[in-house]
Amino acid sequence: MASKRVSVVVIGASHAGLGVSHKLLRQAPEASVTLIDPSDEYYFNIATPRFLVKPGSLPSSKYLYDIRETFNDYPSRSFTFVRGLVRSIDYSKKSVSVTTGESSSTESNAISVAFDYLVIASGSTTPATLGQGSLKLPFKATAFEDTRKAISEAQAKLLKATRIVIGGGGPLGVELAGELAEAPGSVKNITLVSKTGSLLEGATETVQRTAESILRRKNVEILKDVTVDQVTQDPKTEIWTVTLSTGQTITADEYISTTGVIPNNEFIPKSFLNQDGWVNVDEQLRVVEYGNSRSDTYALGDITCHPYRLLSRVAVQATTVASNIAASVRKNTRIAKYSAKAQKMMMVVPVGQSTGTGHLGGWTLWGCLVWFFKGKDFLTYEAPKFLRGKVQ
Ligand SMILES: Cc1cc2nc3c(=O)[nH]c(=O)nc-3n(C[C@H](O)[C@H](O)[C@H](O)COP(=O)(O)OP(=O)(O)OC[C@H]3O[C@@H](n4cnc5c(N)ncnc54)[C@H](O)[C@@H]3O)c2cc1C
Repeated sequence: MASKRVSVVVIGASHAGLGVSHKLLRQAPEASVTLIDPSDEYYFNIATPRFLVKPGSLPSSKYLYDIRETFNDYPSRSFTFVRGLVRSIDYSKKSVSVTTGESSSTESNAISVAFDYLVIASGSTTPATLGQGSLKLPFKATAFEDTRKAISEAQAKLLKATRIVIGGGGPLGVELAGELAEAPGSVKNITLVSKTGSLLEGATETVQRTAESILRRKNVEILKDVTVDQVTQDPKTEIWTVTLSTGQTITADEYISTTGVIPNNEFIPKSFLNQDGWVNVDEQLRVVEYGNSRSDTYALGDITCHPYRLLSRVAVQATTVASNIAASVRKNTRIAKYSAKAQKMMMVVPVGQSTGTGHLGGWTLWGCLVWFFKGKDFLTYEAPKFLRGKVQ
């Protein structure tokens, strides 16, 4: 009689969930993986500052990919994709409850999926993605929403706007300002509001100064040491009023928030979460509950308590989780450990099509290198590798 296959359920089919699924299927063919996500397309959100602002710059085939197709090489009994949203985890039955289909609201079409091991890779979202106090821009995938429609609506709004305020002077705010300054259509009047005294907090001083000087050359107005205290939008005219900590108010066609990350944690037991809503994990990336590591549940990517929620951190985490589940399935005692500190600090920030700034460890990157690594196509050349779990 054939032995029962070990079932692994992975929640979230973005960079982290895809990475761990492929790596596990390659390492432990005796495992059977069920990957769950509300969308059956992989969204390479990293390139959003480019294609939302310059629609003609990248075809959708560079940032939207069919998920199922990339699993065709494995035996069919090894992999199942479920299009749906996980609503809850039931440890008494070792199963997750999933709402399937096109709608986010109906509970009637809920199914239950059993697991031996569970991997939480549900990531995060942003205020702008949800349209909370900001122009709605799909910086991340949104459950059950048509991503293509959200993209084309956002592109149309950005094309039309001439007066734009961006809240947040981090990498996304700087990248977006650089793209908008070169946007097609009428000349845009852009204000970037940074709550800190320099842009790109955490970068070296040289990098911070370079970002600022490129943006100023592109006529972006930069307000430093200023916070956005309130934003309102007139429902009739759709004009935004942005109130700053200085007391100044700015009216704009669009206000874009680039700050804040929100954990996708609605279905996760509260006992797994730290006070900010992120999943506690140990060095093996096993979920920690009441101070103890669970042997059946792992988490990786943005949803974990590790700071620096970055794509550049996801591949190593996926390798760690896949290796540890494979070892556990095979009763192997070799354990992989993840150390956030061991990963090199890096920041690569294109400021427009042809230049930018950044650093890799202590090395400052020249504008031409930033163009080469990221600016020319916003890393979309890497997307197929993330999609197939080929990044180490
Ligand atoms: C605009 C932007 C630009 C960025 N640029 C960079 C960059 O240049 N470099 C860099 O290193 N990082 C960058 N990042 C950060 C990077 O996007 C994240 O670190 C990365 O997306 C994390 O991947 P993830 O798979 O953990 O989570 P996510 O990408 O957030 O994906 C989570 C997935 O889980 C799904 N999901 C959520 N809840 C459920 C549920 N209940 N059931 C089923 N599925 C669910 C979601 O729909 C989604 O598909 C950027 C972020 C943004 C917003």
